[in-house]
Amino acid sequence: MNANQTALKSRSASAFDVERIRADFPILQLKIDGKPLVYLDNAASSQMPQPVIDRLVRYQTTQHANIHRAVHTLSETATCEYEAARRKLQHFINAREEREVIFASGTTDAINLVMHGYGRKFIKAGDEIILTTLEHHSNIVPWQMLAEETGAKIRVVPINDAGELLIDEYEKLFNARTRFVGVAHVSNALGSINPVKHMIAFAHAHGVPVLVDGAQAAPHMPVDVQDLDCDFYAFSGHKLCGPTGIGILYGRAALLEKMQPFKGGGDMILSVTFEKTTYNTIPYKFEAGTPPIAAAIGLGAAIDYLSAIGMDTIAAHELELLNYATEQMNHMPGVRIIGTARNKASVISFAVDGVHPHDIGTLLNQEGIAVRTGHHCAQPVMQRFCVPATSRASFAFYNSMAEVDALIVGIHTVQKVFA
Ligand code: PLP
Repeated sequence: MNANQTALKSRSASAFDVERIRADFPILQLKIDGKPLVYLDNAASSQMPQPVIDRLVRYQTTQHANIHRAVHTLSETATCEYEAARRKLQHFINAREEREVIFASGTTDAINLVMHGYGRKFIKAGDEIILTTLEHHSNIVPWQMLAEETGAKIRVVPINDAGELLIDEYEKLFNARTRFVGVAHVSNALGSINPVKHMIAFAHAHGVPVLVDGAQAAPHMPVDVQDLDCDFYAFSGHKLCGPTGIGILYGRAALLEKMQPFKGGGDMILSVTFEKTTYNTIPYKFEAGTPPIAAAIGLGAAIDYLSAIGMDTIAAHELELLNYATEQMNHMPGVRIIGTARNKASVISFAVDGVHPHDIGTLLNQEGIAVRTGHHCAQPVMQRFCVPATSRASFAFYNSMAEVDALIVGIHTVQKVFA
């Protein structure tokens, strides 16, 4: 270890007690084939701390009933807790109003809600939707479905060899037919942080609304939707220490009011006759049926947990992990990092000469190290870099420098096996 790395390690240890944090996560004590688990697949899904697990148990054992529908005590308690979770999310992203927070099943569901609710109402044949090369399939496929249905066109912002969006090209794509922009805040495949604030301001100057896919940003940095001035912002609970099956769509109230519902059913109505249905007010207009009540309350607990640590603190620790891992990998012959944007968050995609990513994943797993291998649901990114797949290590705030060291040793082992 060189002097820089030693300084980095001790600075990190003094600023952030990662061992104390790790003690909150029971799953991190696991051994895989006798080796301590080194969990570096956080971009796919993060782990859950004990306070969130406890909150789910407390809800199920003492508070569960259906919400919004009855006057009995349990139903009122569950309703209060569900709506309290909504307010926690409102504050987490600094939304103006709690009715701007809609519970969805995750980022994918939230983006589909915007496609159906906004896109099918306002985007017509010949209109143009701008997406970027860096999008996850969940911010591509719904828009392709809409384009097929309506005859709208999709325009794509290219990237450079570092995995950065070409902002000049983005600006050139705007014309009188541009109706919508969808952009990832952070690329799940490369970790590039996109200049979404600038992109939103530019789109607004052309009267175009913007949806930001925040699935890989909300868990790793402070998000302020008023400061970004975005129209929609989506993310998933299971990537920020919450349960699966829950996420949110933030939407600007004025736009949500104008949109049509995505799903029809109970709770999203004010009145129903066979002649006509009057829809409920926002956010309920977009929350048809019994929602994932426990998951929403669990997500609220996850927000409490993350907020107590502080998103700035989380971002700073993860940047140290990223810089440390990047520096080490840059010194490994035969290892190439794919995605070298100047502004990156906690993801390292890499290739090892002569070794298929799936073999890397399998051999690392034998060392207890969990990384993701594949196209990461971002095939256009793979096509841009002419690779079928990459290996991806993605960090969370509970990862330690020692785990980065374990990853580096693991990659050396892979190289030795294939030498
Ligand atoms: N968008 C991005 C950038 C992602 O990384 C992911 C998941 O990895 C998604 C969207 C989809 O999230 P979910 O599967 O939770 O709906």
